[in-house]
Amino acid sequence: MATKTKFQAIRGTRDLLPPETALWNRVEQTAHEVFGTFGFGEIRPPIFELTDLFSRSVGAETDIVDKEMYTFRDNPDGNTGLEDRHDDLRRSYERHAGRDEESLYLASVHNFVNDIRRKLEAREIVSNPALEMSLRNLKKSLADYDSSEFRPDLKPALRKQVLMSEIRLQVESFSFGEEISLRPEATASVCRAYIENNMQQLPQPVKLYYMGPMFRRERPQKGRYRQFYQIGAEVLGGSDAPAIDAEVIEMVMTFFDRLELQGVQLDINSIGHSADNCRRAYVEKLKAALENVKDKLGPDSQRRIETNPLRVLDSKLESEQGIIATLPRIADHLCEDCATHYAAVKHQLEMRGVIYRENWRLVRGLDYYMRTTFEITAQGLGSQNAVCGGGRYDGLVELLGGPPTKGIGFAIGEDRLILSLQESGKAPAQQGRDVYIAWMGERAHATAIRAAKDLRKAGFSVELPPVEQKFGKALGQADKLGAKYALILGDNEVSEGLWTLKTLADGSQAKFTEPDLLVHLKKQL
Ligand code: AMP
Repeated sequence: MATKTKFQAIRGTRDLLPPETALWNRVEQTAHEVFGTFGFGEIRPPIFELTDLFSRSVGAETDIVDKEMYTFRDNPDGNTGLEDRHDDLRRSYERHAGRDEESLYLASVHNFVNDIRRKLEAREIVSNPALEMSLRNLKKSLADYDSSEFRPDLKPALRKQVLMSEIRLQVESFSFGEEISLRPEATASVCRAYIENNMQQLPQPVKLYYMGPMFRRERPQKGRYRQFYQIGAEVLGGSDAPAIDAEVIEMVMTFFDRLELQGVQLDINSIGHSADNCRRAYVEKLKAALENVKDKLGPDSQRRIETNPLRVLDSKLESEQGIIATLPRIADHLCEDCATHYAAVKHQLEMRGVIYRENWRLVRGLDYYMRTTFEITAQGLGSQNAVCGGGRYDGLVELLGGPPTKGIGFAIGEDRLILSLQESGKAPAQQGRDVYIAWMGERAHATAIRAAKDLRKAGFSVELPPVEQKFGKALGQADKLGAKYALILGDNEVSEGLWTLKTLADGSQAKFTEPDLLVHLKKQL
């Protein structure tokens, strides 16, 4: 006998259910409305993209790309193992051929070719013209390498060098499907879309917002999921005027205000400019200062001194706080342009009545971030209390192959936003039905169906039981569903043309003609 499997949602994912989904809808509807008033239009990029898009933009050395992405090979032949062999082989060139160990590399290439031939014979993979051609070319170069007939005019060393690079190119030419990842964030996709759809031809800047699920294989806890939702916006192109930074921040704050989010705290900082070198000079100073206190830091921070010193400032470790307080601060090292820009952003925020706190430890570890960074926290979230992170990233579009383009944006963690609203009692209560139609008898059923249609058309939420019930049972059911009214339709009501409406809160009853009932309900609800 087959054992029954009880399926469960995958760790770090969850079902969003009613009535909570009503709150999600309200939050999203408010975002559409508020962002629309700031002139933003919605973009819906795909949920998966080439892995390279994320490793290039988010950064190959970050936790997100390094450990947390859901990556798979989109391979029409299914997983044959050849993709990984192919990747290994490409890496093995760097490992061996670059170090006068050609024979080791060539042995791997021979193995690879034999593997493909074997899988073709066993029909584990299907042949195609591109694969045949790659195989033919590679076999020929391998044979040339072993004979002296290829370009006898060349000196043997040069001859081998030429063939080696041929072989390498031919190995590259094999294709076993693309490596794809579920998006861990959406900024990269929006920039890709800006380039791909030639949005630089539109009036600048282009203002876009998005909402939807993101995927990161993080350790799940309260406020941290593997599938979570973000609402974000990006301003691309045009200038880097400080008023743009301030308006983007004003927009998020307006959105939170509209939702009556409690305990909202906006932190801002400027992290300088990588091209102007003020950041590089600061990072050098920071690194030197960190080296001096290295022994007092934990292993994570010690590692970051080398990989990403700015990230040490993010540390939440109690024991490191005193040390971090003594480190050099970027505000004291900004170049004149960055300092002017930062001062202007603060002034622009003040003109908009946006209250902020300067936080010199607020950094973004990624190179393309520059100048303005901000983070917003809210109450009721424990240690995962950041509901929004954002900043300026003038280099990103160019990094992804587009023209030099200014950019600034933010991402709101929708799950945390919802949690915070729920904690402060802003969640809507379970939405009960407006009218429960209790009917008995075939004639009454026909009337009930018509009544339901009309009431629904007028916008009321109506429950029409599919089978006949005794009135007592029907009223009990109406109560359980939180209905406000029960419309009672029996033989008498139908023949008299007078329908009974029972108000469930106080048990009172009254009779109405069909048109009067609609007028009455519209007044009451
Ligand atoms: P980031 O894209 O990392 O700058 O994150 C922006 C916002 O998304 C954060 O401030 C969080 O509110 C939210 N967020 C990031 N990661 C998660 C996660 N794993 N689960 C829930 N929310 C998250």
